[in-house]
Amino acid sequence: MLCPFNRLLKDALKEHRAVGAFNVGNLEMLLGIIKAAEESQTPVILQIAEKRFTHSPLEYIAPMLHAAAMRAKIEVAVELDHGCSLFNVRRAMDLGFNTIMFDGSMYPVEKNISETRKIADETHARGVALEAEIGIVGGSEGGADLTANCASLSDIVALGSKSSCDALAIAIGNAHGHYKGIPKLNFDLLEKAHNTLPDLPFVLHGGTGISPADFRKAITLGIAKINIATANFDAIVTASMQYAEKSAPLSRNYFALNENMVEQVYNTTLAHIKIFNNQEPLDSIKF
Ligand SMILES: [Zn+2]
Repeated sequence: MLCPFNRLLKDALKEHRAVGAFNVGNLEMLLGIIKAAEESQTPVILQIAEKRFTHSPLEYIAPMLHAAAMRAKIEVAVELDHGCSLFNVRRAMDLGFNTIMFDGSMYPVEKNISETRKIADETHARGVALEAEIGIVGGSEGGADLTANCASLSDIVALGSKSSCDALAIAIGNAHGHYKGIPKLNFDLLEKAHNTLPDLPFVLHGGTGISPADFRKAITLGIAKINIATANFDAIVTASMQYAEKSAPLSRNYFALNENMVEQVYNTTLAHIKIFNNQEPLDSIKF
């Protein structure tokens, strides 16, 4: 069922776990994510970034995400990820998204606060939640290179306390896409931010490539939502390649490929959910 974003994140923060926010590019990804969430009886967030509308047009994918949320046996929120323009924020709300991530991270902090407030006023008037971002999470999603930049503590506190956001994505050494090396998260910064704003759920973008142990540590320090995009896009590609390799040309068909894709996304999503739920020992999770 469609569920308020704020309640999902507040519950997660209180229970020292994180809600997985999985980006969706097509139907196979959606089916795999919902299957993993229902089987583990865990709430999830379905999302799509504005930058991906070229490949997954909003008017087509939004009704699909919304329908999946309404029919799911678990609680689901539907988010516009990295919304950059008011035009697209309004389109997404018109199509039933119940949370918007507004990315004002390219602005100096004062302008980020004022722009985020403007968007938050508009989304809140329609009962839609608002996630903000501080510090630049680099990588392919933002069109930047893969260098990771940390936000300053004072900027985190300023945006977190003045922008009326419901959740805050913070740059602590994380990046979108594939990491060039082993990511080093700034846990000291995260801990200070969490101690200063203990009731504000923090969001970790660029989850693909972060180790299970680092996920768990981040969750103990206030991360209540973790975004996973690249891992499931990779799962779709891997499923396609494996299917092509293992099947004889004349036996190939779309429906078998579809099942392989769904299964690969399901496995990837389930592993992340188990890590984020923060209950099972890490060595028992196939990651
Ligand atoms: Zn992101």
